[in-house]
Amino acid sequence: MKSRLVAFATACLAALSASSANAAEPIKALVITGDNVGAHDWKGTTAALKEILATPAGKFTVDVASAPAKDLTPENLAKYDVLILNYFETAKGGPDTKWSEANRKALLDAVKDGKGLVSYHFASAAFARPNWEEYEKLTAGGWRTQGFHGPPHEFEVKKAADHPISQGLPEKFAHTVDELYSNSLVTPGSTIIATAFCDPAKPKGTGKDEPVVWVNQYGKGRVYNNVLGHDPVAMANPNYREWLRRGVEWAATGKVEPAK
Ligand SMILES: [Zn+2]
Repeated sequence: MKSRLVAFATACLAALSASSANAAEPIKALVITGDNVGAHDWKGTTAALKEILATPAGKFTVDVASAPAKDLTPENLAKYDVLILNYFETAKGGPDTKWSEANRKALLDAVKDGKGLVSYHFASAAFARPNWEEYEKLTAGGWRTQGFHGPPHEFEVKKAADHPISQGLPEKFAHTVDELYSNSLVTPGSTIIATAFCDPAKPKGTGKDEPVVWVNQYGKGRVYNNVLGHDPVAMANPNYREWLRRGVEWAATGKVEPAK
């Protein structure tokens, strides 16, 4: 009996190692960060992004580029499937956080040539004064300079289109307290896949369904823009996490595997 159990356990282990050997390579993601306005704790939100992409185990690997002046090179970006922007340039950012012309070109070229691109929350406001037009196209718009929001509050997020990212997800979910970006720029060719109604009874309420998640293309690269997730508290919402994970996967691969 004992030897049968051992044989069974050995067979199970063999099957497990075979299945992990057959499993797809992890999606390699790079979070580009290192600077942001004081209201945005880039270290905390980058940790939250990493934590979100730690599930399911082994699906993603995540590196962090917190010195974009050094990290945004063609050689480095070539290592990744998807680039996640969590960056906004400020006066207090150190020299390693400043993007040179070569850094800018490396990012644009990487996505043009097919890397996925994710614009997370306030990254869509970066490089807007003066406006870096190619960055605005790259991120498919967002906050830029015309965006605004009222006080953070709980609101409902609604699926707005069938898309591999939204397929199988609930039609709507109750979001945790977050900023509801309003009047976002959505560039031509974008598909809005999630919206949130901005209650006119609240301060700065627009009375409109505001776009909160949309997708586009930049060259050969797939672009996913999610303006939600002001802080780790908002980012802890399980539905938010699912929308983000699926967006990163789609930007990287063009498809989203059904949840297991
Ligand atoms: Zn914010």
